Amino acid sequence: MSTVSAYAATSATEPLSKTTIERREVGPHDVAFDIHFAGICHSDIHTVRGEWGPVTYPMVPGHEIAGIVTEVGSEVSKFSVGDRVGVGCFVDSCRECEFCLAGEEQYCDNPGMVGTYNGIGPDGKPTQGGYSGAIVVDENYVLSIPEAIGLEEAAPLLCAGITTYSPLRHWNTGPGSRVAVIGLGGLGHLAVKLAVAMGAEVTVLSQSLKKMEDGLRLGASEYYATSDRETFKKLKGSFDLILNTVSANLDMGDYLGLLTLDGTLVELGMPEHAMQVPPGALIFGRRRLAGSLIGGIAETQEMLDFCAEHKVAPEIEVIEPDYVNEAYERVVASDVRYRFVIDTASLR
Ligand code: NAP
Ligand code: ZN
Ligand code: ZN
Repeated sequence: MSTVSAYAATSATEPLSKTTIERREVGPHDVAFDIHFAGICHSDIHTVRGEWGPVTYPMVPGHEIAGIVTEVGSEVSKFSVGDRVGVGCFVDSCRECEFCLAGEEQYCDNPGMVGTYNGIGPDGKPTQGGYSGAIVVDENYVLSIPEAIGLEEAAPLLCAGITTYSPLRHWNTGPGSRVAVIGLGGLGHLAVKLAVAMGAEVTVLSQSLKKMEDGLRLGASEYYATSDRETFKKLKGSFDLILNTVSANLDMGDYLGLLTLDGTLVELGMPEHAMQVPPGALIFGRRRLAGSLIGGIAETQEMLDFCAEHKVAPEIEVIEPDYVNEAYERVVASDVRYRFVIDTASLR
């Protein structure tokens, strides 16, 4: 076992604070690595604040983790000391169910993937995430970061990147696709960049026009404010695919109406409360409402390689660990451009 510094939540309401945690002994199939950067995902905030259900405190969030390998177990074949690696939202799964075997480990149902934090690890202890100096993870759940991507930029790709890449691929995004992205935050800005890199025509639907210049610079061809009712009239029936990345509840009827015949709205944001869907918004236009959860390990590696090839990287604000509580407030206030990434040097 080793002891590392970390930032942990001690309750749903108190600020995160510095502490130390134990990492397990490096087993035969494990990779140990020094964490260099950890992204702040809105899911960290939902979890810490108990919006998604019970949490075992103290809990160290962080599932966008990038760093450098320091030790490998005797049976490890995929990684060596010095490799640039990353870990996303899960660190294990059953490896036997049909979904694991299909490379869709995120949908493991036996009994489910093991979250990078707030899960139960192989040692029977709660898993602790990336706002810390080092981590030990089974090699099958570790990603290889291409040389062309900086470690600080790789971190957000491991959740925000794969969460938007996977549905774009699943719904066959390419030249000729008309894609809208609701919410220009961490997920949203990567959704724009990835869809543009795949050849789609992309429209941003944001609460206001404050970030319009950024949205167009990221590659969107159109940008509309959803606070303006005219937007919904003008864009009625315009899109094949809509990715909803908003962390709060929206009026789904309004947004479903923006889909063309057989179009699909994919829910990615996971607000605390249930959403209401007017049935007519689905029935007229044979529209579909779907969801999508991150992506499997193989697809995450494919996404990293795609980003390296197409020069897709997140826009980030690198912060010190002690800024994390202020960063949380800014994320909740939609004041993030476009992902906070913690430089964990002081925790190593
Ligand atoms: P984020 O950076 O906070 O972005 C969310 C964006 O939603 C904001 O930037 C804002 O964009 C918009 N928004 C926020 N509050 C709003 C409101 N009240 N009304 C309308 N729009 C609002 O969050 P994120 O890290 O991208 O995560 C987004 C959501 O996805 C979270 O719920 C998170 O838990 C979830 N998530 C899901 C998965 C998955 O696998 N499905 C993976 C990761 C995250 P504008 O300012 O442009 O309007
Ligand atoms: Zn996340
Ligand atoms: Zn499984």
